[in-house]
Amino acid sequence: MTIHDDPRFQQALSELPADADAETFRRWGEEVLALLQLHVEESRAGNGRVLRQRPIDQIGQELELSRWIRDGGMDAASLGRFLQGYLADSTRLHHPAYMGHQVAVPHFASALADLVHGTINNGMAIYEMGAPATAIEAAIITWMLGRIGFTAGDPSGYGDATGDPDTGAGALDDLAAARAPAAARNAPRPGGVLTHGGSLANLTALLAARARIAPDAWTAGNPGTDRGGLVVIAPASAHYSISRALGIMGLGTDALLSLPVDDCGRAEAAALPGLCDAVVASGRRVLAVVASAVSTAAGTHDPIEAMADVCDERGLWLHVDGAHGASALLSDALRGRLAGIERAHSVVWDAHKLLRTSTLCAAVLFRDVSALEGAFRQQASYLGSGADSPGIDLIGRTVECTKASLGLKLFLVLAVEGERGLAAHVEALYGAAARFHDLIAARPGFTCLCPPEANILCFRWAAFDDERLAGLRAELVRRGEFYITQADVGGRRWLRLVIMNPETDEAVVERLLTSIEGIAAGV
Ligand SMILES: *Cc1c(COP(=O)(O)O)cnc(C)c1O
Repeated sequence: MTIHDDPRFQQALSELPADADAETFRRWGEEVLALLQLHVEESRAGNGRVLRQRPIDQIGQELELSRWIRDGGMDAASLGRFLQGYLADSTRLHHPAYMGHQVAVPHFASALADLVHGTINNGMAIYEMGAPATAIEAAIITWMLGRIGFTAGDPSGYGDATGDPDTGAGALDDLAAARAPAAARNAPRPGGVLTHGGSLANLTALLAARARIAPDAWTAGNPGTDRGGLVVIAPASAHYSISRALGIMGLGTDALLSLPVDDCGRAEAAALPGLCDAVVASGRRVLAVVASAVSTAAGTHDPIEAMADVCDERGLWLHVDGAHGASALLSDALRGRLAGIERAHSVVWDAHKLLRTSTLCAAVLFRDVSALEGAFRQQASYLGSGADSPGIDLIGRTVECTKASLGLKLFLVLAVEGERGLAAHVEALYGAAARFHDLIAARPGFTCLCPPEANILCFRWAAFDDERLAGLRAELVRRGEFYITQADVGGRRWLRLVIMNPETDEAVVERLLTSIEGIAAGV
């Protein structure tokens, strides 16, 4: 029996005074859900275009944006018509020909979590504004810490330090310990926080690393740019948010030193000691070393273990940007690709890429979270739940002040699929990319960059130079039958597939290749 059929639910509703707003919410909600269901089903069936790129002015006019903004007055029927138009031009992530970006085809449970959050709007920053949302965030963080291997040396993740998976008891340990006596506080405390995206998570991790090496930087500013200055070492293939973080932190993007990479974008760990020596010789200090799991463009894994050896030897902070690839930790078959990740000081892990949540739901996780607690300092008399609060405030750990209840999305997906279901999802996408690689490599006229290590694969129409390849992709997007991206790796441009949709199969890829051959032949 669902709640709706429960007489006590009906009774409770009937005892309330009639509420016109609540009734409107239900009726409009039904309209919206019906249209979304149609959109998803049509997309999954592969009907219509995967994307449609019409001029922005035309879209604005057809949707009558200025009129609605000026006059208001939308009702359920006009909402339906508006939404039809809106969906018609929206990019269809549920479409099997969606192979464009690393953005998840969201699970329906995550979409419903967005609706719940949008309705009750329990902002996450202080416990008083959302107690269950905070409990869920703590449980999700605890679960991720276990999967990385930051807690209890228990690969199942449910060791004694990580709480009871059934009751959630212990899930707040990492935060409760923050209030423990100083002596108890000296032991490393794994912990973390959910953020609105991996870019913010990378910034947060680097702020924590800076708080460790230069505790005064928050108040006094960064140490000088030459002697005493701070640098970050990251593979040339690292995500741009690393370089942006240095810009935002006032270190300047020149403080980013590139670690050489091979033709597939994998960091060359052998070059790391020399680079570190050069930094020391110039009188500067290494704030952090970054490894990608996986690189954004080509989906390759940096050698974490070898990089961790160098970092351990020299006492350097190792940050693993696992925004995309950390989800492979859930799979027994794939986890080995991230060997050594438990030796990192900080890890970023996006759920909105491979764990089927809508944007955004990212985590930044620390082997010892005390560094993060030194990263931010703020004074706001109107915030904070007070010393006798039964929960914990996450506000001291985030760039954000108000924050959505991000954990609910991932929690509900886990509650439906279980972690085994999510592991199978990641394995299916990685497996599909490997098969598609073999299919493309065997087709005359095409060249592949390298066998995929994740669900990202790069290939090219061999006869085309970079410019014509970009033109080819633009034509594909214009036609709207396939959505793929492009990336520069190893000094060349590649067409790039990101397999996010379990419905993408060989037949779709064969049709894509035929279409590319047609465009190359001028058809
Ligand atoms: C996607 C990605 C990011 C950025 O994450 P957002 O959630 O889009 O901000 C950072 N690093 C890597 C390696 C990524 O793949």
